[in-house]
Amino acid sequence: MELDRVVKHSSRIELSQSALKRNINFIQKKIGPDVKLCSVVKANAYGHGIREFVPMVEACGIRHFATASSYEASEVLDVTSPETTIMIMGILYPEDLEWVIGNGIEFYVFDYERLQLALQKAKELDRKAIIHLEVETGGNRTGLPEKDFDRAVHLLKKNGDYLVFKGLCTHLAGAETLANWFRINKQKERFASFLKSLRSKKSGPELRHMASSAAALAMPDTKYDMVRVGVSQYGFWPSPDVYNLHLMEENKQNDQSLKRVLSWKTDVVHLKDVKEGEFVGYSTAFQAPHDMRVAVIPVGYSNGYSRALSNNGHVLIHGKRALICGLVNMNLFMVDVSYIKNVQVGDEVTLIGRQNRHLIGISSFSEFSKHINIDLVSRLPAAIPRLTVK
Ligand SMILES: *Cc1c(COP(=O)(O)O)cnc(C)c1O
Repeated sequence: MELDRVVKHSSRIELSQSALKRNINFIQKKIGPDVKLCSVVKANAYGHGIREFVPMVEACGIRHFATASSYEASEVLDVTSPETTIMIMGILYPEDLEWVIGNGIEFYVFDYERLQLALQKAKELDRKAIIHLEVETGGNRTGLPEKDFDRAVHLLKKNGDYLVFKGLCTHLAGAETLANWFRINKQKERFASFLKSLRSKKSGPELRHMASSAAALAMPDTKYDMVRVGVSQYGFWPSPDVYNLHLMEENKQNDQSLKRVLSWKTDVVHLKDVKEGEFVGYSTAFQAPHDMRVAVIPVGYSNGYSRALSNNGHVLIHGKRALICGLVNMNLFMVDVSYIKNVQVGDEVTLIGRQNRHLIGISSFSEFSKHINIDLVSRLPAAIPRLTVK
């Protein structure tokens, strides 16, 4: 007889449908009803979990997703409805082209040879390859160089039976910092000049797009037909600059429009009384300054909880803050519960989220030890169970 695998994970992630709905509504209101919203779900939906998060976004009426790889695209495809479209923005291996074209997945092309290969594969499959031409505007990352633009457009136009010129796009090199806007302005000009050249060729794409969250929220002239929204749909302001610009525009002191979708929880697994002068955990990183009580938390750096939070971060138990004592180990760490009454094994521990008036939030910029950084969240292991809550 085979036993069902019902073993318990040491932590769990909750995703709030109502927070997501608010975020999407806020962003859509900010960009206006005529601009298409593309939900960016690379990095396993910024750690939220593609399989759980994507259906939540669909429930908000969004029907277009972007990933960074064909593997992620395949995960999105597994859970989406047939009318939903998927776009791969990044690296695409020639071996994957057949699968990508065969499944009607849209993809970025940023070199001429790739366009030729896409055409060849599309002919072999007798399917259309759906192309977004990513042009070089100054990011100097990926991007089709200007010298190859004319022949690329020509190839698209000549082979309309096999190539769909779906989009013309670029990526801005850091629109979240005002100090970088001199670069962004140059990118905007270059993008406009590509578009002008297309008009003279009378061969426009269906969608023009360049903005990610920061530009979508702070630079109206970058919205064009579609914005590719990542960090803000998960409930985070891309930077203090973007937040402050928004406040100025709305003449507000603060704004709670974006809501964190994700919470991360676990439970106390063990308690220990420690005498003054004893050390806690590995090494001499933490010495008890007085008799104290510590709780063992069954999450460590292998579960995505950063080692940098050693002796630094805190968790919430019984609605109160408990500071980390000592090093974050591979699978566990200790917190000080000396001043939290009646803590028991099995009590809920919040690693990210709210308990009473205390919040451990997530920041997309550095606010070390007060908030958990988004780069930690985007690496949360796929194995942690995710559940959708209201
Ligand atoms: C990640 C990414 C986005 C989304 O960026 P956010 O700042 O998270 O909104 C948009 N476009 C491209 C090409 C990206 O790689």
